[in-house]
Amino acid sequence: MEYKDIIYKTPVKHGLINYENTYKDFNWKNINRYFDHFSGDGVNIAHEAIDRHAENSCKDKIALHWEDEDNVKKQYTFSDIKRQSDKLANVLRNLGVEKGDRIFLFLPRVPELYISIIAIAKVGAIAGPMFSAFGPEAIKDRLHDSEAKVLITTPELNQRVDEIREVLPALKHILLVNAEHNLKKDEISYESETNKASESFKIRWVDPEDYLFILYTSGTTGKPKGVTHVHNDMVSHYITTKWVLDLREDDVYWCTADPGWVTGTVYGIWGPWLNRISQVVYNGRYDAEKWYSIIEKYKVTVWYTAPTALRMLMKAGDKIIKKYDLSSLRYICSVGEPLNPEVIKWGLRVYNLPIHDNWWQTETGSIMIANYPCLPIKPGSMGKPFPGVCAKIINAKGKELSPGEHGLLALKRGWPSMLRRIWSDKKKYNEYFRISGWYTTGDTAYMDNDGYFWFVGRADDVIKTAGHRVGPFEVESALVEHEAVAEAGIIGIPDTERSEIIKAFIVLNHGYKPSPNLKKEIQEFIKKRLAAHAYPREIEFTKDVPKTRSGKIMRRLLKARDLGLPTGDISTLEE
Ligand code: AMP
Repeated sequence: MEYKDIIYKTPVKHGLINYENTYKDFNWKNINRYFDHFSGDGVNIAHEAIDRHAENSCKDKIALHWEDEDNVKKQYTFSDIKRQSDKLANVLRNLGVEKGDRIFLFLPRVPELYISIIAIAKVGAIAGPMFSAFGPEAIKDRLHDSEAKVLITTPELNQRVDEIREVLPALKHILLVNAEHNLKKDEISYESETNKASESFKIRWVDPEDYLFILYTSGTTGKPKGVTHVHNDMVSHYITTKWVLDLREDDVYWCTADPGWVTGTVYGIWGPWLNRISQVVYNGRYDAEKWYSIIEKYKVTVWYTAPTALRMLMKAGDKIIKKYDLSSLRYICSVGEPLNPEVIKWGLRVYNLPIHDNWWQTETGSIMIANYPCLPIKPGSMGKPFPGVCAKIINAKGKELSPGEHGLLALKRGWPSMLRRIWSDKKKYNEYFRISGWYTTGDTAYMDNDGYFWFVGRADDVIKTAGHRVGPFEVESALVEHEAVAEAGIIGIPDTERSEIIKAFIVLNHGYKPSPNLKKEIQEFIKKRLAAHAYPREIEFTKDVPKTRSGKIMRRLLKARDLGLPTGDISTLEE
């Protein structure tokens, strides 16, 4: 099916003006000239994102407008961020942090999170941001696999680390934000140490191929994978921010994503600051009125958010929109899940702006397919490949398919921000490149006759719920740790608001009876143990979970049965 109603084309005078010509002539190497250092003595993304701006006429420009749920507000200029990250970089160096060490962050969206990520890059270490809704199991997986040396967190969140502390021998120091007293042996106060530290720091120049950050993300099998990126990512971060998010020097930009997910790290820190943009961070939960008040108060011009949030705003109704002055908004983008045409049409009506969908992944490190200001939007399509990115639809043998044919979405390897490693798992890394010459995305899609890409689904069992990527194996493993659960199978089922919700099929141990209370108890168990966003909203107690003869849960069969779809080949089903 193709959408006939092409709805919008923004008049453009800046950024990407002619998509076709730019795509034809594009060469990644030409982007290097936008940076101070690109060869010789080495590079450092923190210099390009913060220090160089703090050292010129932009030193007093606001880098960060920050506000939290209690209306506490703070502002940081580029020189404030430079000074504070230099101080923290000195603290880290004094703790013995060296190039390549892993420093993990378990923080809400406080200013210290943003300052820490810059400071970690400055010492040449590798930052590992973690979503603050994670429970002990999810934290343990990440800190253990990466052998993190330092953790930066708050006393409240640290309680979840306490439970697993003894299985983390590589963890030497815990820097606690907002804690000056009652510190344990390996705990250090962030404030006391940074207050004492020198403001002068000599940045560590690194090779563009040196590691910058690790974000753990879910696949179908096994524990989360440590997707590792390098300083060279800055090339993609810089230019995709400019051309897809259409950011210009006088913009006020708000990315609603948390840095515990890739959008929050790349387009909530690096992309905007490489482009010297003032950005807003709101440290709080979703609330329609609060969100609109943020746009009004800071006169947000460019807004990058997600389909679930937009659907929730749509549900909150048009009336509350009228209470706020949103006239500053000039450009809206969305990512993370399919963006339904209804939402785009609604956005056009209530914000008087189209919403530009774009597609990418933790592994790709930057936006790969997008709707651009200079191209018409086909509602429901993810858009066209970014210049320098070759995206195709292929079959399992690597043969390119014709327009309209459904197949695997694949990218020709070699763009600057492509993942460089899965932290401790070479085999998992190689799996992405199993079809010669191609990076396989795990998504299925098709391309239409005009070169627009349309998302079809996942080729594997990974679940996307409210924009969060969840691996069924992680949830199943956590479930069977509950005393009542003998076996569990996890699938994603369609949901109008959250794209998908997690459904668990559970076989109970002897002596346990299905009941609404037990369901609740199991849900709470997963929220606390694994992550607040990863709990099964639906639970069905069942007598057995279908498995292959080799013992693998047949999630596809569970899903087909649940949704009343054809069950496909079940020849490997256990008798
Ligand atoms: P993550 O690595 O958590 O950002 O998740 C990446 C996955 O999210 C992709 O492989 C897709 O399955 C999904 N995704 C991201 N952007 C879009 C989009 N614009 N439309 C549909 N699915 C998307």
